[in-house]
Amino acid sequence: MRSQILIHPEELTKAWIDRMADAGISALGIHPWGGKHAVKSIESMLESLKTPEYRALLDCAAERGLEIEYEIHAAGYLLPRDLFETHPEFFRVNADGERSADWNFCVTNPEAMDYVAKRAADLALALYRSGNRFYFWMDDGKSVHCHCPNCRDLSPSDQQLLVLNAMLTEIKKHIPDAKMAYLAYFDSLALPEKIEAHPDIFLEYAPMEKYVANSEDAAERIAREQAMIAPLMERFGKEDAKVLEYWYDNSLFSKWKKPPQEFHLDEAGMRKDIEQYKALGFRDVATFGCFLGPDYDELYPPVDVTPLADALK
Ligand SMILES: [Zn+2]
Repeated sequence: MRSQILIHPEELTKAWIDRMADAGISALGIHPWGGKHAVKSIESMLESLKTPEYRALLDCAAERGLEIEYEIHAAGYLLPRDLFETHPEFFRVNADGERSADWNFCVTNPEAMDYVAKRAADLALALYRSGNRFYFWMDDGKSVHCHCPNCRDLSPSDQQLLVLNAMLTEIKKHIPDAKMAYLAYFDSLALPEKIEAHPDIFLEYAPMEKYVANSEDAAERIAREQAMIAPLMERFGKEDAKVLEYWYDNSLFSKWKKPPQEFHLDEAGMRKDIEQYKALGFRDVATFGCFLGPDYDELYPPVDVTPLADALK
């Protein structure tokens, strides 16, 4: 099976590359921060990608046999919030009925979508040594989609698909074999109902409820997350379907606050999950591995990723 670890752009070092390659991990994922840091983190990554030093690191990763991909909460970057002053209609209407530049955008505004699609193509072309699979996710959160009269009948899943279809069509003008991930988690676990996916859109299933659900209905939410795997695979196809897990996500375990906490792998839990994913037909399994970079290594013994590589062999 294909194995992958996602780390923050600034965490990439020769030590991380060697750790992954020595263990037999298949792919490196570069993952800028999400949430309120997303745009800044993407811009800073794009600056790094222009430097010979950072490119040399990625060359080194490629030479050591690691595939390279970028997984990005891209909505805020793709439609810069400062356009709100001149084009408020590009932005979403929130659940209170107000236009707001806080999250995502209006997915039925043709000009906004055109802007987003073109910028997505530029972004795809700027991702040094990227494979042909692109992961440009909507903003993180619940109920952060557009509620305007034209969008309100489209679920968050349908809204995501509309954006993916538009982006992929534009990216394919430059990268004909490009594919894009439909990220299924939280609101977008539900099957899209009104929008058909472009054939080169594949499923990326990220079971985050399992780690963060703590409301009264937590058990129910986690059960629903599990129950949606089969219908999502059926809808988007098994062939390219990918799982994005959190087994090594020390940013989650550190509650996204530095300094990082000491990381302890739940190896038995991970192996059990992997058995389930294998049985369901997944052949591509990734995990976040953020907050295990150079600042972590100064505080604690370096993390061992061989259990992940071994479990996926
Ligand atoms: Zn709208």
